Amino acid sequence: MSGAPATVLRAVLRHGPVARSTIARLTGLSPAGVSRHCGSLADRGLLTETDEPVSRNGMGRPHVPVDIDTGRHTVCGVHIAHAHVTLSLLDLRGNVLVQQQIPHVDPDQHAVLRAITDVLPGFLAGRTPLAIGVAAGGWVDTDNGVIVEHTSLGWRNVPVREILAGATGLPVHTDSHARALVQAEQLFGEIRSRESALHLFVGNVVDAAIVTGGATHRGPRSAAGDVAHLPLGDSDVQCLLGHRGCFEATVSDDAWARRVAGVTMPELLAGQQDSTPFVERARLVGRAAALLYDVVNPEVLVVTELGVITFPECLAALREEIAARSRLCAAPEHTVLPSSFAADTVLAVAGGAVALGVLYTDPLSHTVG
Ligand SMILES: [Zn+2]
Repeated sequence: MSGAPATVLRAVLRHGPVARSTIARLTGLSPAGVSRHCGSLADRGLLTETDEPVSRNGMGRPHVPVDIDTGRHTVCGVHIAHAHVTLSLLDLRGNVLVQQQIPHVDPDQHAVLRAITDVLPGFLAGRTPLAIGVAAGGWVDTDNGVIVEHTSLGWRNVPVREILAGATGLPVHTDSHARALVQAEQLFGEIRSRESALHLFVGNVVDAAIVTGGATHRGPRSAAGDVAHLPLGDSDVQCLLGHRGCFEATVSDDAWARRVAGVTMPELLAGQQDSTPFVERARLVGRAAALLYDVVNPEVLVVTELGVITFPECLAALREEIAARSRLCAAPEHTVLPSSFAADTVLAVAGGAVALGVLYTDPLSHTVG
């Protein structure tokens, strides 16, 4: 985190509406310093003074609370999935104001990026977001703004930041969607007070994100979190590299749905009367999750997977499998959680969270006073 303004902004995000005196107590900053930072954050349209009185704390004087300004600035999310792009507009509390899906007519990287830049101006409808956040599956190099490798789309070395910044004139930030969603969980979800977390994303792409000491671990060129080829015991499904029993090839959405029902995942979900196939998948995910849990030993494991988000019995099966196989996970009902975000907004949140994560890390460098 970068400095006192970010500390103040995050405290307001978590506790707002909140009095300045309370922010000072929570953060250990001086009351004068908090007032000064609140002033500069308000000048930039990030904070607002609210009229709603907060309770007197016995000091005799009512305190005028400050809160995140959700009425002025927005960020734009671009989530690139296997079959479609999700454009979104989020307020500074991570609420999805509007979203739009663009199915890939042609999965070629140039065609998809052209589709995005064609649709964006109409989608934004004259609004100027603070920044665009791009989230994608696979290996995303955050520092250089490049999708290094997206196996299921067959993309390599796509300079997505350069292309979108050139087309829109807006700042563009990029990250893997597993890291984007763990960022969203830290800002707006269930794990705001946790120092360490593991996030497992299972969709058409399967990847992981690790938080330690409150920060996301990226590793050189942001390559950390590739769990696609973790071996899954008795599975004999073959992956694109020709291995047998790899995690992603066995459980990823469309591969799984085709194998168990001969349909795509949306078709399987739409026609599903009972959750049996999803429970089975949750158990397979639990197998790999138990291994990862013991490697990372996080305070919390968050799982974003359609079945686990949708059916309580999938979450139960996942927790049961992890408890049975992990050596460290003693109380999965407290330490294994489903995504905080519903299935119909999770991709919209992921894109926007990339931009919001940057804003909440260094708010003054990414806004104009
Ligand atoms: Zn493999």
